[in-house]
Amino acid sequence: MCERTVTAVRGRNRIYTAAAAALLLFAGACGAVREAEKSVFAMDTVVTVKAYGDRCGEAVNAAADRLTELERRLSATDADSDIGRLNAAGSAAVSGDTAEVVSRALELCGSTDGALDITIYPVVRAWGFTTGEYRVPSDDELAAALGMTGYGSVSVNGGTVSVPPGRMLDLGACAKGYASGEMLKAMSELGITSALVNIGGNVHALGSKPDGTDWTVGIADPFSPNELLGKLKISGCAVVTSGGYQRYFKDDAGNVYIHIIDPATGRPADSGLVSVTVIGGDGLLCDALSTALFVMGRERAEAYLRGHGGFDMILVTDGGVIAVTEGIADSFENVSGMPVEIIYE
Ligand code: AMP
Ligand code: MG
Repeated sequence: MCERTVTAVRGRNRIYTAAAAALLLFAGACGAVREAEKSVFAMDTVVTVKAYGDRCGEAVNAAADRLTELERRLSATDADSDIGRLNAAGSAAVSGDTAEVVSRALELCGSTDGALDITIYPVVRAWGFTTGEYRVPSDDELAAALGMTGYGSVSVNGGTVSVPPGRMLDLGACAKGYASGEMLKAMSELGITSALVNIGGNVHALGSKPDGTDWTVGIADPFSPNELLGKLKISGCAVVTSGGYQRYFKDDAGNVYIHIIDPATGRPADSGLVSVTVIGGDGLLCDALSTALFVMGRERAEAYLRGHGGFDMILVTDGGVIAVTEGIADSFENVSGMPVEIIYE
């Protein structure tokens, strides 16, 4: 697994990036470890990066620069990004980052039998999740949008990505996980061995805390998102959570529509899970799987784990049960009062 390994929210005003980006550098009292922290608004959420040791100030700046670069490449809502140009033209020469994220995401679309589908954008747009102007699409509109999806139609040839006319990519389910890993890499290249990136609640740790102990990552209670479900001790891991509570809207009758779409129906996923946390060494894998396993539901998620391995997970069911894989059971402290079941691989 991870070394005993590590993970997101959303927002709006991009001016915040420049205005509120704060660098705190503590040159500590004698013997204290140097520590730097920086917060920026990117990928539609608040991002915080902390680094420890020599060059920590330089490191948090390098991580933030790398994040900005990735957002410029991967954002579906930025017409000038690789994905924006691809979605407009059907084919585009893209950066190595974009080619890599698309290729790896396509593999995961395949291995999850389409529970992850990076061509889901027309459907996500029909529900208003791309603009925040939420609406319930008609059956005909949904059928038309769904007809424009299908990850099998995407091709990557070297540095060129192509989709048939009218198809569009959305890397929203996996871009943050890739970004957190790349931010850690940028800091590692400067000699940093202890750092933590938090992209809107999705945490990714480089190594352990400066004193050599595990980081403690809080997992939100999906029934009461401002409170904790539990605490997880990890080092060197990504901890990525997908939950209906993270973005949803209600219609006049009070029906709730969440932002995670079941590509089989085009409607918000209704799999019996209310949150899925995936823990592993690879940020992109954890991010993509947190979304896909949410769509799949508990039974299919457990079957996927047994068939593929390489990650741990914490599932919360709509009936109020927490299911935790045996690999992290001892590292997870339940503070919710809900019963915990162990998933054996
Ligand atoms: P996450 O927050 O990582 O679970 O990703 C959810 C975001 O990914 C949504 O806001 C959509 O933009 C997009 N999305 C929703 N459902 C899917 C899906 N089944 N496959 C791929 N992307 C999705
Ligand atoms: Mg995800």
